[in-house]
Amino acid sequence: MAEKRPQQEKEPRQFVDLRFSYDRGVVLHDISRERDRQERLREAGKFPATCADPTRSDAEKLPVLIEEVGEAARAMCEAGGATDVQSAGLRDELVQVAAVAVAWIEAIDARKVVPRG
Ligand SMILES: [Mg+2]
Repeated sequence: MAEKRPQQEKEPRQFVDLRFSYDRGVVLHDISRERDRQERLREAGKFPATCADPTRSDAEKLPVLIEEVGEAARAMCEAGGATDVQSAGLRDELVQVAAVAVAWIEAIDARKVVPRG
């Protein structure tokens, strides 16, 4: 039996902005490191659970996420307002917001209840 060959691409390859991809990779790497840090803090006893714990309810997780969003808002205000996009403090807080959201998604996936579409 002849080996089935992959179908020819129907659309031409699109230009990939490698600089943009690299920048996103840095951001996702930082979020992943923050997730790891959260788990180390939990292991050290700083808090009893992270949002990745599938046994904790969504109602327990939302305040954690909102607290992080609040800290991002505070960092933005302390840095002089919404136009200060270069604020390292704001960036750090947004990474924490994203890491908490990632943890929560991990819990949803662990429950095997993944909402679709
Ligand atoms: Mg924070």
